[in-house]
Amino acid sequence: MPTESFHAPQPDYRSGLETDLIHAGTMRSQHGETSEGLYLTSGYIYETAEQAEARFKGEQSGFIYSRFANPTVAMFEARMCALEGAEMARATASGMAAVTSTMLCQLSAGDHVVAAKALFGSCRYVIEDLLPRFGIAMTLVDGTDLDQWAAAMRPNTKVLFLESPTNPTLDVIDIAGVAKIATSGGARLVVDNVFATPMHQRPLALGAHIVVYSATKHIDGQGRCLGGVVLGSEEFIMGSLHNFLRQTGPSISPFNAWVMLKGLETLALRVARHVESAGILASYLYNLEGIERVLYPGHASHPQHNLAMSQMGSGGPMVAFEVKGGKAGAFKFANALGTIQISNNLGDAKSLITHPATTTHQRLSEDARAELGITDGLLRLSVGLEEVGDLVRDIDAGLAAI
Ligand SMILES: *Cc1c(COP(=O)(O)O)cnc(C)c1O
Repeated sequence: MPTESFHAPQPDYRSGLETDLIHAGTMRSQHGETSEGLYLTSGYIYETAEQAEARFKGEQSGFIYSRFANPTVAMFEARMCALEGAEMARATASGMAAVTSTMLCQLSAGDHVVAAKALFGSCRYVIEDLLPRFGIAMTLVDGTDLDQWAAAMRPNTKVLFLESPTNPTLDVIDIAGVAKIATSGGARLVVDNVFATPMHQRPLALGAHIVVYSATKHIDGQGRCLGGVVLGSEEFIMGSLHNFLRQTGPSISPFNAWVMLKGLETLALRVARHVESAGILASYLYNLEGIERVLYPGHASHPQHNLAMSQMGSGGPMVAFEVKGGKAGAFKFANALGTIQISNNLGDAKSLITHPATTTHQRLSEDARAELGITDGLLRLSVGLEEVGDLVRDIDAGLAAI
């Protein structure tokens, strides 16, 4: 039986990745169920008082309490390890619980963090507003400029943080380059890998030390459940993260972990379709008169196109573009869509469009938005699994409305 310090088996995940997405980490009960068991339990029964004592002392393996570990959650963590090539993983209640716990479990007052400016709104809050309240200094850099990362390093720099492609402007950051700077400075690089998806980018193989996900996105893939996961070395998980999670409690529900396990089974198929449709829509948008600017890493015009191809091998599942007419133009476009829905979520089977300037990034000052290229006409599209011809027709309808 796995314990709360469950150590995932390490299959050769590149051969048979899609097989691992379906089978890795499965622990069948005595009933021999085909689908993974949903252990909807908060606690566990001990046969004797002596057994309870031995479990708490760590002398006997086994589950203690679902804030610490749960069999369904352990299966999800093990399957994620196989996918990512990580020694260990811990699942959390949401992507933000994964990011916040990853930071707080290893940082103390007096430490310093370097992060890319272009971050998911809540990640930027954690780095820019939350950490400084606890005496943790931070420097924000242009993530695409390796010299800025190197110049920001201090003797007390402990963590570097980035996401690539960035939200919402889809800049691509050189993960191997930043990882080298982190390692030579004695710091750890944390990569938020949501926008690339685990199918297209493997930060640990590129030298990053820790990977975090919002499993809410492509891992669930059907917009049902919140969840997060943190992956890294046994040294980091057992040395820093495990006890932090166990004592502070941002645990994922076993039900949500079970949904994520089911999501992983179809991840490869779904992401392939998301990426294929995103490429088709991006090419279509590039040829349209009414579109001011298209941001898609898979297109040759993207400033980091070559890096995107070597790092992700694809343009990814997200497309951003700017329409004419600023905020009014963007709102007219979004309101005229039929199949594509207006939502700030992403990674769903349903295509979802967001106006970052008034939603996910409205908290930033106008100057901060301008610096990041988040203009009033910018829209971010999470390309879904619908018939791509219907999405093309939607784009035509949006443009006709402006
Ligand atoms: C959604 C998202 C998060 C936060 O995840 P939640 O599951 O919503 O808490 C963090 N980073 C990125 C890049 C995201 O897209």
